[in-house]
Amino acid sequence: MVKKCLVLGGSGFIGSHIVKRLVSKGHEVTSVDLHEPKYAELDDSFKFIMGDLRERDFVSMVIKDGIDEVYQLAADMGGAGYINTGDNDADVVRNSMLINLNVVHECTIKKVKKVFFSSSACVYNEHNQEDPLNPVCVESSVYPAYPDTEYGWEKLFSERLYTTYKRLKNIEVRIARFHNIFGPEGTYEGGREKVPAALCRKVLEKYNGEIEVWGDGQQTRSFLYIDDCIDAVELLMESDYSDPINIGSEELISINDLAEMVINISQRPLKIKNIEGPIGVRGRRSDNKLITEVLGWSPKIPLSQGMRKTFEWVRTQMFVENPKNPIVCNGYIDERYGLVPLGNPKNSQSKFGFPLTLGGVNSYENIIDEVARPLPESSNYKEIESIKEGTKYLTVLNILYTGYILNNIDGFRVLGDRIVRDLQKGLTRVIIVQDTEGMSGTDIYEKDYLTIHNWAVEIGINPEDVTYIHGNIIGHKSAFEHGSKINIIGHSVFEGYDRVCNLYFDCNDILGYNPEEHNPKIFLNMNRNPRGHRIMMLCELLENDLFRRGINSFDFFNEDFSGWAKQNILDYTGLSDVKKDKYLKLGKILYDLSPQKIDFDLANGSLHHIMPLESMEKCFLYLVTETLVDKRTLFITEKTYKGFAVGVPMIIYGSPNTLEELKNMGYETFSKWWDESYDKEEDEIKRLEMIVKILKDLSVKSSDELKQIRVEMEPTLRNNRLNYFNNIYMNHTNRKVRPTYEKGDHINHYFMTQKVINDIWEELIKEDE
Ligand code: NAD
Repeated sequence: MVKKCLVLGGSGFIGSHIVKRLVSKGHEVTSVDLHEPKYAELDDSFKFIMGDLRERDFVSMVIKDGIDEVYQLAADMGGAGYINTGDNDADVVRNSMLINLNVVHECTIKKVKKVFFSSSACVYNEHNQEDPLNPVCVESSVYPAYPDTEYGWEKLFSERLYTTYKRLKNIEVRIARFHNIFGPEGTYEGGREKVPAALCRKVLEKYNGEIEVWGDGQQTRSFLYIDDCIDAVELLMESDYSDPINIGSEELISINDLAEMVINISQRPLKIKNIEGPIGVRGRRSDNKLITEVLGWSPKIPLSQGMRKTFEWVRTQMFVENPKNPIVCNGYIDERYGLVPLGNPKNSQSKFGFPLTLGGVNSYENIIDEVARPLPESSNYKEIESIKEGTKYLTVLNILYTGYILNNIDGFRVLGDRIVRDLQKGLTRVIIVQDTEGMSGTDIYEKDYLTIHNWAVEIGINPEDVTYIHGNIIGHKSAFEHGSKINIIGHSVFEGYDRVCNLYFDCNDILGYNPEEHNPKIFLNMNRNPRGHRIMMLCELLENDLFRRGINSFDFFNEDFSGWAKQNILDYTGLSDVKKDKYLKLGKILYDLSPQKIDFDLANGSLHHIMPLESMEKCFLYLVTETLVDKRTLFITEKTYKGFAVGVPMIIYGSPNTLEELKNMGYETFSKWWDESYDKEEDEIKRLEMIVKILKDLSVKSSDELKQIRVEMEPTLRNNRLNYFNNIYMNHTNRKVRPTYEKGDHINHYFMTQKVINDIWEELIKEDE
């Protein structure tokens, strides 16, 4: 038989589930509430009326003649945070009382056949609930009455209201005392949430660390899964039983154990922190003796199973799609700088993502730990779950170094099933951003390209949909050699360096040359860590009487030469014993010249950090000792870029073929003024000696002659500066779309990466058109 049913509070948690159940049984359902359902969908399978049941006229309008069943669930209620603090008592009591007074009265007038009233376990006597392990909540124990909250008193009074109307006004009532009903579509945030959903939320907000649990956590409760609850309501309505009856579970659990259960479900390394907070009675558990006898009902769904379903639901809710914010980024979390966000080029306020750092970790567990790092409170980053299924987004992974992909393919796969699935569906693209200098393409790391390519093939996506931005600016050639089809973009300006190296120069034109008359400097010698080849350069300068003809910078040299610097010479491969001896002796002298004894002009790290233009201006040329790798790597970093950006002549002591590769990119070299055949020399020591020879030749020139050469060089320097902005800067790629830069663009890694992300995003969304 089709019944006419009215569900009051039908947009609420239990109400909306009742609506669904009644609709599924083919009944004619009207739902009434102050608002539309928060989580459930409104559709035309039932009627929805919005309004306030505290208003008599409204109640009189919605409770019409001919209604078979009214389900009264509307109440001003919430979890312990709402009803146990006492702050909301006046509203709670007044609002719910008004609703119940109106409803029961109107049901009588309109001769509603049956009314269901949702009471609560909160009616029970506080004194019977002091032992957390043995709370007494048998129906008959409610009197003498002493509920612990005004909410409970209101429920108890309303029970009496309905039973009085039954006794005197001839209306059928069914009264359930619900004990902590939980499940999907229950409030999980905002202050009215109950403990199961609240714990799911708290756990989902953290990757590791602690979650706060109110009280000592030893207080106990029993929780009933929503589907079981609705079964019981249905049976109760069909039965003849009209006294209040418990609908709950007898599975007692402490709140700490419940929190532990949620933590286990999440598999996150979280701990519980008990803090002060409203907790209610010490223990509460449904006593199901009566309901089992009367209705033959008992719960079917164990707590753990129900919690699992609830957790999954809260997870999808918490990370709701916002179609305006379509980019997923992770930040890399660096000890020094905190989270470094890439951001969303479309909308800087939205940065979705998940932390993933591969650098510095070398096992799968380590990577998981990294992923589990909490995001700083201030960050806008969220998890991948924040993207609703079916939405397009980009996945941006920051890694610190290459090689970890090769050594740790699992680390890369930490991307997870969801992203893999979305890649397969064409909903996302992966952009891997390496945040520090690039070794990709070198002997040990060259397989990175292939590893990523193979991974793409293995999961059935087009390798071209994976982009790898990294520090080897000829990496795309090397990738090609290895048969990798992934998109490669090389750049050498790194997020980390940006922060310390002051990469952006407030230098509007090429830098002048203003030598000091009494001691014209030939070169500014740019060094950083005491790597072997850098010490060797200093030693050669010293031996050739050139040391004082330059401004030398050096980091980490304020130690006894028996330390790292010395070890680097000892470890230097390809160095004869004779040379080693020579450099060790000279190194000792260098140490004696070091800041403890006399100042290096710009020793101790200052130069590579701040790059003072006035020092650079005093020098004829800029001598850069880059990291030496091999021919397949063009390893130029912030040191070299500084030279391009300000437009000075340079000698780059880097890998062989560095100049050749730069020329391919539009850079003009200085072969008109000195012999650049050092660039072709594969032997590092010989290359070094050839460079020192150039400096020696230049050192005999007068400062007027040097000034004249700088004038002649001007077109070349201008070209290189322009080329830096427009070409060398970032276009080292096999991508079809190349990012372009405008003069005046703030040059840094962040900016460049944004450009690439933007391009790829445009491509992705264009596919829809
Ligand atoms: P809920 O807060 O999700 O639902 C209550 C609904 O009533 C809300 O949608 C709200 O908008 C509506 N409402 C409140 N005031 C109204 C008004 N003046 N006019 C119209 N609508 C109004 O709560 P729930 O968890 O679904 O609980 C339903 C009923 O069951 C409540 O009476 C509650 O006291 C009782 N109960 C629930 C639990 C539980 O664990 N969920 C336990 C014991 C008792």
